[in-house]
Amino acid sequence: TPILLWLRRDFRLSDHPMLTEAAASGRPVLALFILDAVAEAYGAAPRWRLEQALAAFGPALERCGVPLVLRRGAALAVLRAVIAESGAGAVWWSRDLDPAAIARDTEIKTALKAEGLEARSFDGQVLFAPWEVKTGQGGPYRVYTPYWKAVRGLPVAAPLPAVTALRPGPILRGDSLAALGLGLPMRRGGAIVAKYARVGEAQAQARLDRFLRDGIETYQARRDFLADHATSELSENLAWGEISPRMIWHAGWRAMQEGRAGAETFLKELVWRDFAWHLMYHYPTLARANWRSEWDDFPWAGDSDAAERWRRGQTGEPVVDAAMRELYVTGRMHNRARMIVASYLTKHLLTDWRVGLRWFEDCLIDHDPAANAMGWQWVAGCGPDAAPYFRIFNPASQAEKFDPEGAYRRRWLAEGNRHAPQTALDFFAAVPKSWKLVPGPALPAPLIDLAAGRDRALAAYAARSTK
Ligand code: FAD
Repeated sequence: TPILLWLRRDFRLSDHPMLTEAAASGRPVLALFILDAVAEAYGAAPRWRLEQALAAFGPALERCGVPLVLRRGAALAVLRAVIAESGAGAVWWSRDLDPAAIARDTEIKTALKAEGLEARSFDGQVLFAPWEVKTGQGGPYRVYTPYWKAVRGLPVAAPLPAVTALRPGPILRGDSLAALGLGLPMRRGGAIVAKYARVGEAQAQARLDRFLRDGIETYQARRDFLADHATSELSENLAWGEISPRMIWHAGWRAMQEGRAGAETFLKELVWRDFAWHLMYHYPTLARANWRSEWDDFPWAGDSDAAERWRRGQTGEPVVDAAMRELYVTGRMHNRARMIVASYLTKHLLTDWRVGLRWFEDCLIDHDPAANAMGWQWVAGCGPDAAPYFRIFNPASQAEKFDPEGAYRRRWLAEGNRHAPQTALDFFAAVPKSWKLVPGPALPAPLIDLAAGRDRALAAYAARSTK
């Protein structure tokens, strides 16, 4: 009987355990994507990026002989309908460790098995399954360095070659990609973000090749410099499964064996991604609740006009505004900039980290629920292995240090710059008209004096820790 391959965020042909096994089985297959409640809940930029991923992957799969059928609805109901139409006897998928996906998949597996169908899940999203890495006491890791020490020596299987042919099963009717409406919330911004996005497996591979050729040697020294493209920029493709972490790991490992500077630092960063999934798997409320409950009574402000100015890149703090505009225009943000804007929001503006997390969730084309939640809790000080709250980034000195010539700020800020680059102008073209933003002669006056904001944050922290 045919196998129904349910694709979710694993849009690649290389190193794809499920596809390899399906090809080897010789059984006829059908491929399906379902726009269900889990995917419907993605933010605007992730939805748009999902549409791009599907547009690239559909034809790639078709070249292997199998069309990607698109449907919308409750996942189990759609699976049942497709099973009824096709006579499929098995449903296979690659595991997605997002807690919402786990809940859905567990229920579906039970239901399908109860109906006598084969339901199988495959690896591929992470290097190390969260349940396989355990501390000496048998529990999960909460601190990165021991986690890294535990995994760095573990074997990582070699990546699988790309699947080139699958045996097609019955042809089914599906929706058109446009009918799914994934790109709609990004009406204005989508065309702009498209200039910066790198969609699909070939582009992901090109990014990796470029990084190995020109980037890895300078990675350690330059990765914090905001204007440089000194990092791999692969997070966008990893988020949608357009490249596997295993392929990147092996490339990095080879570079390390060849003694290339930067390679080990790069591998360590890649493993932060796994660590985030490890945390999220074991603490599924990572994106919702303070990891340390003693933070529950911290006097963080909720959403506010100040937070809105932060979202719109109008705080008057140049590096913060530059970074928030980079986010809006490209759907990505430099890692150091993510830390600077998160610290500014949670400390200088004393705003709940979840306000920032939600904006990132809506704007990032590399949105990864685990890395995002870990990142926010880490900066805010309430997460596992977090930076202490009293370590407050001064955005001005961060800018001096990591953007010494101001190239990053000039790239993203048009105010007062008669020769503003296209990147800076793109921001004004991308934002909703209702924001009524035009490049003025200067940035708005700063929302808060940096020293005063710092003192207020420290006072709030001191009041809390004496309780
Ligand atoms: P490189 O430096 O080339 O690193 C290679 C890969 O390692 C990355 O693609 C990424 O998969 C992984 N990685 C590197 N640093 C981290 C890290 N600190 N945490 C987890 N994984 C890491 N990353 C996301 O992929 N999605 C998010 O939604 C996300 N939200 C974040 C929110 C905040 C507040 C912070 C502080 C960080 C967040 N990060 C997130 C982590 C990090 O900023 C990005 O992974 C990184 O900027 C991606 O750029 P790159 O691909 O060039 O990374």
